Amino acid sequence: MKKILDFNSLDEVLQEIYTEDTWCSKCSEADLGIVEPELYIESNRKYIGGKCKVCGTESVSEIVQKKAKG
Ligand SMILES: [Zn+2]
Repeated sequence: MKKILDFNSLDEVLQEIYTEDTWCSKCSEADLGIVEPELYIESNRKYIGGKCKVCGTESVSEIVQKKAKG
C-alpha cells in the first residue's frame, strides 16, 4: 500500500536535493529537476515522484539514504 507523505514537511535542504537530484529516462539526463514532487512510502521503501522540468515525463526515484558526512 502506498502511503503519501507531506513533501513540504521535509527539511528545505532535503526538498532541494530530492527535486534536483533526479534522472529522466526520456531525456536520458540527470539532475534536470522535477516539479510537483510527491513523496511516498511503498513496501517500506521511500520514493519521490514528480514530472521532469524539461519534458514533463513522470519520474520516480527511490530515496536511498546517503551516509552523513563527517
Ligand atoms: Zn525529461
